Order: sequence, then structure tokens, then C-alpha cells
Amino acid sequence: MNRIISSIFGRFFVAVVALLLLAPAAYAKPRIMILATGGTIAGAQASTTEAGYKSGTFSVDDLIKAVPQLKDVADISGEQVANIGSQTMNNEVWLKLAKRVNEVLKGDTDGVVITHGTDTMEETAYFLSLVVKSDKPVVLVGSMRPATAISADGPANLYNAVSLAANPEAKGRGPLIVINDEIHYAREAEKTNTTALDTFKSPNRGRAGVMNTGKAYFFSPNTMLHGTKSEFSVDGKGVNDLPRVDIVYSYANLGRDMIDFLVSKGVKGIVLAGVGDGNSTDAAIEALAQAAKKGIAVVRSSRVGSGLVVRNVEVNDDKLGLIAGMELNPQKARVLLMLGLMKTSDPKKLQEYFEKY
Ligand code: ASP
Repeated sequence: MNRIISSIFGRFFVAVVALLLLAPAAYAKPRIMILATGGTIAGAQASTTEAGYKSGTFSVDDLIKAVPQLKDVADISGEQVANIGSQTMNNEVWLKLAKRVNEVLKGDTDGVVITHGTDTMEETAYFLSLVVKSDKPVVLVGSMRPATAISADGPANLYNAVSLAANPEAKGRGPLIVINDEIHYAREAEKTNTTALDTFKSPNRGRAGVMNTGKAYFFSPNTMLHGTKSEFSVDGKGVNDLPRVDIVYSYANLGRDMIDFLVSKGVKGIVLAGVGDGNSTDAAIEALAQAAKKGIAVVRSSRVGSGLVVRNVEVNDDKLGLIAGMELNPQKARVLLMLGLMKTSDPKKLQEYFEKY
């Protein structure tokens, strides 16, 4: 009898100890770090009834304080990486941000939220999708109205972003953009309207999902290479800049001067924001083919905003030594080409990147 009692007591004791040890872990909130870079989400107007405002006015602490509900979702910490309008985003901030995200996610942080202007958010998100070496959630968030606006959209967007970064379902999808209750994959997202709240679209493959008051509903997986499967990295000590790649915009009667000018400047790559399926005038195509012969990587993309640019349709890429940009818009083709050029200048190998990433 005594043995039965002591065995029941023993088991009870073990269960209580296990509960005491495990309970804090079970109830601990996810640790989310907000890395702020500026943008309209941190912007202030002189007057709420005037359109004029300045991006990157408020600090990361101001943004966190403005949404006290964030603390219910996660243990929040914040860091100011930059405080700029994203129209001035640059290689230095990209490299700093990518290195910091990698460092933070190596530790016990469960996810990262990046506040960012919407103008170049899609480029930063795509860049990070190729160089962040973690499956933990990375969520980029911005707003279309400044923080001081009547009915500012930033606070709700930030709440959704933190909720998404804290959600295990967001793991392994690469950086996500959250705005206007919608979730977009970095590779797919495109800013399409200068002022509308629903400016971000994913025209080729559709949205990743939607948010409803902090709850995520995913529609589809991200099937393109990214994150831990990406072969690109900017973590090395020697990586202080990216190869120079510029974009040439195509239109009726475009001449060759701008292309020749870029070649004279020593660019490593040129992306054509072509008409239609990545096309241009005879003069421009001839100048691009000559640039390619000199060893400059030339990618044909399109200015139309969606669709594929594939090899050898109206332009003979095989003969001219050009690369087809596939689904990437010009600004994202530029990002992939910069990272690709850190590994090779062989157009065949670069073409493979455009088919995988
Ligand atoms: N110019 C701003 C920026 O990109 C626009 C925005 O954030 O919506 O920083």
C-alpha cells in the first residue's frame, strides 16, 4: 500500500516539476525585433490636411509606443538601422540591414519586422529573400499615409506585421510584405499606385495570403528558391558594396546614347526595361549586343508590369549574348543581376539564376 502511495506521489511530483519547467516556455511570447529604416510609416506632416510630409521622422520607439497592442502579441525590441525615405535606399543600407537580420535571427529572436518606405520596399524584400540565411519569418511593412494623417494606415499594418512575424506559419516563406491586410511574397510584390492603400499587387503569381486583425490566411507556398536554399550571400567581411548595374528604360525612338554612356562608366550589368516582351529599338538592341560582347551582362526585362520575358522570342538572345529576365520586373532583375555578378559573369550561368530565383 505504502509503495502504491509513494509511487503515485512520485509521479505527481515529477509531473509538477515538469509543468513548472515547461510552463514558462509554453507561455513565453515570441521574441520579435523591429528593425526600422524610415519611410512614410515613420513620416510626419506639417498639417493633417496637407499632402506634404517628410518620411523617416519618427523613431522605432515612437512606432512601438503608438501601438500598445504589439506587447500582447510578442516581446518586442526595436533598433534603428536607418531613418530615410526609401527613394534614397542604397547598397550601404541594404548590406547593413541584411547582415543585421542574419545576426539577429542566428540568436533567440523568433522573427524580424522591418519598417520601410513603400517606394523601394519590393527591391529590399527581394534582395533580403536572396541573402537572408534563416527560415524564421522576416516581414517588411510600410504605410501609404504618414503617421500623423487622419486615418493613418501604419499602426494596423504594424500590428499585422508583428503578428505575422510571430506566426510559425510564416516560416520558410522568405521575406513577406504586409500592407493593407494583404501578404505578398518578396519576389512577387510590386508597388503599382502612387497613393492608394492597396498599392501592392502580385501580378504574376498572386498574393501569398491575407491578414485579418493579426490572423494570417495563406493561399499558396513560395516555390521559388530563396533563403537558406539561395546560393547568394553578403555576410563575408569583404562584402562592402555590390557590382554596378543600371537600368535603361525603353520607349519609341530610343537611341543608343544612354547605353554607350553606361558602358563608358564601366557598369558590370545593364537591365533593359523593355517595351512589351523586353524589346527595344534596333539602335538600342544593337548597342546592348555590343555591350554584351564586351563582357557586360545584359538582361532583358519589361516595363509593362507583369508577364514573362523568355529567350529568343522577338530578340535572338542566343546570337546576341543576352539574358532573358523571365518574371522579374526591371528593378528586381537588377537586384538578382548584382548578386549573380558577385559569382559569375557567364551569361549562361546568369540565365540559370533567372530561371530559379
Ligand atoms: N517615399 C516614401 C518612401 O518610400 C513613400 C512611402 O513610404 O510610402 O519612403
